[in-house]
Amino acid sequence: MSAPVTKPLVFHPGRSSGDLAARLSRAVAGDVLFDAGSRGRYATDASIYQIEPVGVLVPKSADDVRAAIAICGEQGVPVLARGAGTSQCGQTVGAALVIDHSKHLSRITGFDRDAMTVGVEPGVVLDQLNGWLKPHGLWFPVDVSTSAQATLGGMAGNNSCGSRSIAYGNMVHNVLAIDVTLSDGTEARFGPEREMGAAPPRVGELLRGLRAIGAREQDEIERNVPKVLRRVGGYNIDVCCPQSERPYTSDESVNYAHLLVGSEGTLAWMRELTLKLAPLPAHRTLGVVNFPTLYTAMESARHLVALRPSAVELVDRTMIDLARGNPAFRAVIDRALIGEPDAILLVEFIGETREDPLRRLRDLVALMGDLGLPGSVVEMTDAGAQRALWEVRKAGLNIMMSLKGDGKPVSFIEDCAVPLPHLAEYVDRLTQVFARHGTRGTWYAHASVGTLHVRPILDMRRDGATKMRAIAEEASAMVRQYKGAFSGEHGDGLVRSEWVGWQFGPRLSRAFEEIKDLFDPAGLMNPGKIVRGTRMDDASLFRFPPGHRTQPLETALDWSAWDVQNDAVTGALTPPGTGGDPAQGFGKAVEMCNNNGHCRKFDAGTMCPSYRATRDEQHLTRGRANTLRLALSGRFGPDALASEPVRAALDLCVSCKGCRRECPTGVDMAKMKIEALHQRQRAHGLPFRDRLIAHLPRWAPWAARVPRLANLRDTLPGAAKLSETWLGFSAQRSLPAWRRDTFLRRASAEREGAAANAEVVLFVDTFTNYFEPENAHAAIKVLDAAGYRVHVARADGADTEPSRPLCCGRTYLAAGLVDEARAEARRVVAALLPHVERGAAIVGLEPSCLLSLRDEFLVMGLGEAAQRLSENAFLIEEFLAREHRAARLRLPLVALPQKRALLHAHCHQKAFDAVAPLQQVLALIPGLAVELVETSCCGMAGSFGYDAAHYDVSVRMAEAALLPAVRAAAPDTLIVADGTSCRHQIADLTRGAGARDAIHVVRVLERALGR
Ligand SMILES: Cc1cc2nc3c(=O)[nH]c(=O)nc-3n(C[C@H](O)[C@H](O)[C@H](O)COP(=O)(O)OP(=O)(O)OC[C@H]3O[C@@H](n4cnc5c(N)ncnc54)[C@H](O)[C@@H]3O)c2cc1C
Ligand code: SF4
Ligand code: SF4
Repeated sequence: MSAPVTKPLVFHPGRSSGDLAARLSRAVAGDVLFDAGSRGRYATDASIYQIEPVGVLVPKSADDVRAAIAICGEQGVPVLARGAGTSQCGQTVGAALVIDHSKHLSRITGFDRDAMTVGVEPGVVLDQLNGWLKPHGLWFPVDVSTSAQATLGGMAGNNSCGSRSIAYGNMVHNVLAIDVTLSDGTEARFGPEREMGAAPPRVGELLRGLRAIGAREQDEIERNVPKVLRRVGGYNIDVCCPQSERPYTSDESVNYAHLLVGSEGTLAWMRELTLKLAPLPAHRTLGVVNFPTLYTAMESARHLVALRPSAVELVDRTMIDLARGNPAFRAVIDRALIGEPDAILLVEFIGETREDPLRRLRDLVALMGDLGLPGSVVEMTDAGAQRALWEVRKAGLNIMMSLKGDGKPVSFIEDCAVPLPHLAEYVDRLTQVFARHGTRGTWYAHASVGTLHVRPILDMRRDGATKMRAIAEEASAMVRQYKGAFSGEHGDGLVRSEWVGWQFGPRLSRAFEEIKDLFDPAGLMNPGKIVRGTRMDDASLFRFPPGHRTQPLETALDWSAWDVQNDAVTGALTPPGTGGDPAQGFGKAVEMCNNNGHCRKFDAGTMCPSYRATRDEQHLTRGRANTLRLALSGRFGPDALASEPVRAALDLCVSCKGCRRECPTGVDMAKMKIEALHQRQRAHGLPFRDRLIAHLPRWAPWAARVPRLANLRDTLPGAAKLSETWLGFSAQRSLPAWRRDTFLRRASAEREGAAANAEVVLFVDTFTNYFEPENAHAAIKVLDAAGYRVHVARADGADTEPSRPLCCGRTYLAAGLVDEARAEARRVVAALLPHVERGAAIVGLEPSCLLSLRDEFLVMGLGEAAQRLSENAFLIEEFLAREHRAARLRLPLVALPQKRALLHAHCHQKAFDAVAPLQQVLALIPGLAVELVETSCCGMAGSFGYDAAHYDVSVRMAEAALLPAVRAAAPDTLIVADGTSCRHQIADLTRGAGARDAIHVVRVLERALGR
């Protein structure tokens, strides 16, 4: 292997970084971010590397980028284009001005239905494009796994490849033209050679240079460019003499846009892309082939592709087991299995007619018989079942990535491509290599094109770099022997640029440098990638470089479950608290974020509402985790978590817990925010307004005695405005109205149900008790009607304040007052545990309150008692659905006058898988059609939306999906929302004409009791 050229990669801006920021601020309309927090957040991508950029520009338009390129050119500062930053090889990490297109440069610029082409700005996200194209029956078929966040600019930059590349090719096969700006400001459209005659003189000269290099190196290109479909390393120098098994153009003519595809931002800034579209497949079938060994599966791949499938994807035994271990996926994966296979291949067929893919599915069954595996295929023709199984494959990878401890699955040979006849042997030998180095890998993905993903588990703070090199050396020797490609999907970046010379040889490496210099003579476009790279194991460029230390922290919550180490071979974890984290596990919990960018999704689920509203990296789960990690490493000075960058990054986090469930590695930012707020209020104290809200459960009994007085803020003209000036409560908001008829004042402790079925303890939270007591009354009626003996939870006699209502402590947690929250939690545990010991179920109404018994209570040092309580605490709909499943529920429900219900689930219900029970109990009402709105957070989120500073973002969150759905609902549609703040948000933002009120599910059930 030729040694990498060691041109210095790190740019030292010195005093000029201040000049640069000032000049940029004057010249552009977009955001110029040069503060330590922003630079830290843009210092990483989904690779193992970290380099602090000079600064960040979030341009509003192409003109901003033009201006930035010109200024950087004058000051000799490199520029680094960036989309979602999901590259796995460090392509978007560098000492440069990072230009993030993903926020504003996301317009679709042209569409020709007949020609099946579309023009896009570089920041358009693939799923958004495909969503836009769907009504036209078309799609852009390079279906990368990161489709919900990957931008078209980034996909072109990396020459990305989808699961269905065997049918549609890679990015290079699907880009028709690219409009670029060169580092000297020259602009041109790169496309078919025949259309480039009118290019500017500078580009004409460049093309002449390229042609000369192509002609000179033709024999070397033929010798050294791998002849596989999946080859994305180096520059596509073979535009002039095609080497890919699938030519880049149908007539093998030259298209210079293809040279830019895969160039990783090193040649030019791509301003606009013209893409080739494909018709949406009309019909699909899926055959799941079960194999006794991974080896046979890999052996069969080459025979399967002869059937012209659109995808052949591997799921190995480890992933099968991971999926089976997850209750949500067990049934789906079980349906795909025959016995106990060691591996399965998902073989998909698409076609224009229904018969075509069905016929090929039958061919698959016959083929497997011929190959000695009769009866090994599970035939899936139902679209829903197919979708569910594809989801399982994705989830399996996610669980694998959630391994706790310093050893992590590392991506550096995860996409080597080998010709199919050698695939089985390659997998077998590489597995042995892993074992020799004391690690293991899980195999999955693109068997159709010989690009199997595998990430050995390495500890990059200790011996990981040495093992990485050793494994890479052995893997590369095999790739060479099998005439494959070392980089078959993810590109070069920092991890593989040094391998470009190894792959293509010294002559082509030199030619690549010439190409780079023709485009970018000053070397300012993303330097150090593809040519003149650094060593993959240069630890000074790692996210955890030598000398990395986590600052000691005395935590308020128990993070010991994260403070562990793992065994790379068995995956076994050491006991909690033994991982050696000076931050008592909080540091390792934060470091679980591997920057994969999944939280940038906009499609389904909750994560991350504040990012969806602002599109700022700072307000993204990833941005927050990076901020916390940098704080803990001392980047923002002492008292790290109390620092301003941390406050700013967490400010718009609505603690929805969406990330707790949807982040592949389980980053739980809501819990981290509690810890950070705790540290901040210890250092700086709490503002009066926050103190007022936090202590609401304490003063609520007094307010309820004088509700007229307490409600003056909303009844006295001018008072709301004053509350904004003095306290920061938005004057545009109404506040929840205090009631004299609180629930607990009137309720008797115990009620006998008609049939005295079983005992249920109703935990009435502060908000229900003081603001909406009718919900608790409804719960009593419903439970009564179902024959349960209902006991209303109250503080026990041993409590120092037995007359004060119980409270989960949520308002204290939201302010970081963990000690006060713990005191409340202790009262709840003491009061409820005796009921649990008697076998009673604890039932609550407000998701954020009840579910804290199952979440935060477990990390507040309350021991086994809290654990016992958490296992027996249910939302009322969870309890009723459970009883219904066990055929114990006798709830006489009748049809309602309303025939439709629109359901908005609280974020914490989603985070705790408690949405299905809501739907199940509503389905018990005869004739009621229930539609679940696909929403993220409603935007109110406790007290978040009442804050004047948060009002706009809160409204934006609500307007993303919830409010349009509510407004579109017919007047007689029931709007159902279990969250107090969700209901308030709906009422508040639909005030006036078209006002809508949402109600708790238990009130719907109460109405359907029909008496
Ligand atoms: C979990 C996971 C799964 C993945 N699965 C796949 C997969 O299935 N297939 C696949 O191919 N990849 C995959 N990737 C890698 C990555 O997601 C893709 O390469 C993706 O297309 C990158 O898009 P991005 O917007 O994040 O680009 P970025 O990472 O932001 O940028 C990628 C490159 O493009 C350059 N670039 C961006 N915009 C411009 C521009 N306007 N002008 C010039 N250069 C530009 C950047 O400088 C960089 O070199 C995966 C990554 C992860 C973390
Ligand atoms: S927070 Fe989670 S989803 Fe977001 S980048 Fe980090 S690991 Fe990925
Ligand atoms: S808790 Fe919600 S708002 Fe906060 S980071 Fe997680 S997903 Fe985003």
